Amino acid sequence: MQAPQTTSLDPQSPEEWAALRQQAHGMLDDILDYVQALGQGPVWTSAPSEVREQFFKGMPQDGSSLEVTHAAFKRDIMPYAIGNAHPGFMGWVQGGGTPAGLVAEMLAAGLNANVGGRDQMPVEVERQITRWMADLFKFPASASGLFVTGTSLANLIAVWVAKNKALGHETRRRGLRDEQVQLVAYTSAGAHACVKKAMDLAGIGTQYLRVIAMNERYEIDCAALRQQIQQDRAQGLSPFFLAGTAGTVDVGAIDDLNQLADIAQEQNLWFHIDGAFGALAVLAPQIAPRLAGIERADSIAFDFHKWLQVQYDAGFILVRDAQLHYDSFAAAAGYLRREHRGMAANSPWPCDFGPDLSRGFRALKTWFTIQVYGAKRLGGVIQQTCDLAQYLRSKIELHPELELMAPVSLNIVCFRYRSSQADQADVLTARLVVALQESGIAAPSTNVLPQGLAIRAAIVNHRTNANNIDALVEATLRFGKEISVELGL
Ligand SMILES: *Cc1c(COP(=O)(O)O)cnc(C)c1O
Repeated sequence: MQAPQTTSLDPQSPEEWAALRQQAHGMLDDILDYVQALGQGPVWTSAPSEVREQFFKGMPQDGSSLEVTHAAFKRDIMPYAIGNAHPGFMGWVQGGGTPAGLVAEMLAAGLNANVGGRDQMPVEVERQITRWMADLFKFPASASGLFVTGTSLANLIAVWVAKNKALGHETRRRGLRDEQVQLVAYTSAGAHACVKKAMDLAGIGTQYLRVIAMNERYEIDCAALRQQIQQDRAQGLSPFFLAGTAGTVDVGAIDDLNQLADIAQEQNLWFHIDGAFGALAVLAPQIAPRLAGIERADSIAFDFHKWLQVQYDAGFILVRDAQLHYDSFAAAAGYLRREHRGMAANSPWPCDFGPDLSRGFRALKTWFTIQVYGAKRLGGVIQQTCDLAQYLRSKIELHPELELMAPVSLNIVCFRYRSSQADQADVLTARLVVALQESGIAAPSTNVLPQGLAIRAAIVNHRTNANNIDALVEATLRFGKEISVELGL
């Protein structure tokens, strides 16, 4: 047979390589310009229909060029991102990303490592971060860890490992239907919705997640928790899993982690902590004492892409008992055979600790972020966002038109513009938040609290400063007044 004619997708001559370099350098400069100018434009702009229409075109059979495609990115995509990198962004809980993370992503893309396993240094980077996290949370050095998309998946992994511990690993083969016991899990009404989703995805069913009431500080009510566990045991059910929250998504409350650890110990429950953003507050010396008890957890889920400012996505699960973690996911396959030498050495592999086989090099942008800025400075950013939240609280308390709606525990402030008619309060709040977002001045989101709908400002981004808080308050007062008039209040 004649040798086949092939071409790669790389440039084919030194001249083509030179042109690529020039274009690529220009693209890097452009995105750095964008980052440098963040805060000058609006937080967010909704894409007009002409732009959206571009994305209904069919798949191109013939390519154009990097230059043309980059121009389309600049025209149709870049101006219409959600704006979480912008200092005025305060919606949900989202990190801002950093210049170091930006270039690290570029390096990771060049390497194109598949960090499912094998004998390669990218795996060691992930292991080093696991050891750093074990140390940070005072877990044993033998603890296991894994990068995942985000805390949603990390929480699912925790439920999965806890389920296998409770039922024995034979349950992986047997399936839940043939189990003699009915597992029950516990969390608070302030827990993130993904805890419920995890119970669904794990096949246990959301009806077996007991959602325990909160106290006036929005922390789980431990007395009610104990009572519910007793009641479930009396009915012959098998409590197995307790998820505390360090930094609730609604108001930023931290459950009493030591008390939860005591209950978990007494009741023989897996003690998991959803610390999606809050766990890494252990890096801020003034906040860290409030997380006491976190070191007693069986597993902690958290995101580097929130308070640590690492580029999306970079979630993490830390598990105290690495053997249990491994036994919950490891699966033998002929083509994944391990060796003591050669590329298939270095077992166990990251793929043995989670559902994914092929995995990107999320650890690199996290490693760069921690190497470049250091734990102290990153902890300082966490502290400064909490200081800004207190500054916002103080401004709200100064203005009689504004009403604080929940205690400000960390970096989340829930408030509203007062309505003269109680039944119009939520309409006013909803319209006010849309007006703020559409103005591009500041972008909070909303939250449903017992008293009603709140404007919820979560200060996560390292770029946010006091001017952004002033602008938010000023715009809230202005739009609040305008919308009140429109509503006849
Ligand atoms: C953001 C968040 C989650 C979900 O994390 P993802 O990274 O978005 O999957 C879970 N719990 C809490 C408390 C959160 O703030």
